[in-house]
Amino acid sequence: MSGARIIDGKALAAKLRERVAAQVAALAGTVRPGLAVVLVGDDPASAVYVRNKNRETAAAGMASFEHRLPEDTPEAELLALVASLNRDPAVHGILVQLPLPDGIDSAKVLRAIDPAKDVDGFHPENVGALWTGAPALAPCTPRGCMTMLAEVHPDGLVGKRAVVVGRSNIVGKPMAALLLAQHCTVTLAHSRTQDLPGVCREADILVAAVGRARMVEGGWVKPGATVIDVGINRIPAAEEGRTRLVGDVDFAGASEVAGAITPVPGGVGPMTIACLLANTVTAACRLAGVAEPAVRLL
Ligand code: NDP
Repeated sequence: MSGARIIDGKALAAKLRERVAAQVAALAGTVRPGLAVVLVGDDPASAVYVRNKNRETAAAGMASFEHRLPEDTPEAELLALVASLNRDPAVHGILVQLPLPDGIDSAKVLRAIDPAKDVDGFHPENVGALWTGAPALAPCTPRGCMTMLAEVHPDGLVGKRAVVVGRSNIVGKPMAALLLAQHCTVTLAHSRTQDLPGVCREADILVAAVGRARMVEGGWVKPGATVIDVGINRIPAAEEGRTRLVGDVDFAGASEVAGAITPVPGGVGPMTIACLLANTVTAACRLAGVAEPAVRLL
C-alpha cells in the first residue's frame, strides 16, 4: 500500500493547457501564437509525438504548422526550412523533432533556430541564459518537472537537497539549472557517480532521468522525499507479446518511502507537451513585445 502522495501529471497538464488556452484567448487581436513542428523521416515514436503536439496546439487555439520531410532530406534543405520559419511572422515557436536521421548534424540544426523561437530551449543561447539567470526558454520536460514540484512544495524549494540522476542536455543539466535557480543545493549524478544509492538517499528532491527501468530502488529514497521520475522505458508485460511503460524508479518500493512521487505513465510525460505550449505563448508575447496575459496561476 503506497504511503506517498501520487503527483497526477495528467490532471496538472490539463490545468496548464487550460491556462495556456485562456492566455491565447486573452491575446486575440494582438498575436496568435503559432508553433511549427518539423519531422524528418518516419520514426513511429516521433510521428506519435508530433501528432499529439499538433493536436494539443490546435486545441489551445494556437496556429499549428506541421512540416514532414523524407528520411533522405539533405541537411541544407532542412536548414533552409528552419531559416524560412525563422522569418515567418506567424511562427513563434519552432520544434525540430529529435532524433534526426544519420547524416544530419543535430547540433547544427538546433543552432540554426532563432533563439527567440527556440521553444525546446536547446539553443546554446537559451542554455547560457538558463545558467546565467537571464530570461530563457527553458526545456519543456524540466519545466514540467518544476511545475510539479511547485504543486507539491507551494512554499518553495529554498535550501532543499536536490539530486538529479542523469546529465543529458535535454533533461538532467537543465533540470539542475532550474533547481539551482530555486535555491536548492544540487547534485548532478551520472554513470560514473560513486555510491549512487547513498547520494540519492541524501535527496529531499530526487529526479531520475536515466533511461533504465526501475533502477532507483525504494531503499535509495530518503523518507518523505519528493521523487520525480522522468524515465520512460518499455518492458515486456505479463501478457504474452505485449509491452508496458515503466519509469526509472521502482514505483512500488519508492512510494512506500517517499512523501510524493510521480507515476509512469501519467506523471512527467503529459507535462512536457503542456510546457511546450506554454513556451510558445511566452515566445509569441516576447516577439510581439506584449506582456504575457496574467491568468489564474496553477
Ligand atoms: P540520455 O540517455 O541522454 O541520458 C541518460 C543519463 O543517465 C546520462 O547522463 C547517463 O550518464 C545516466 N546514466 C545511465 N546509466 C546510469 C547508471 N547506471 N547510473 C547513473 N546514471 C546513469 O537520456 P535522456 O536524458 O534523454 O532521457 C532519460 C530518460 O527520460 C529516458 O528514459 C527518456 O525516455 C526519458 N525522457 C522522458 C521525457 C518525458 O517527456 N517524460 C522527455 C525526455 C526524456 P552518463 O552521462 O555518464 O552516460
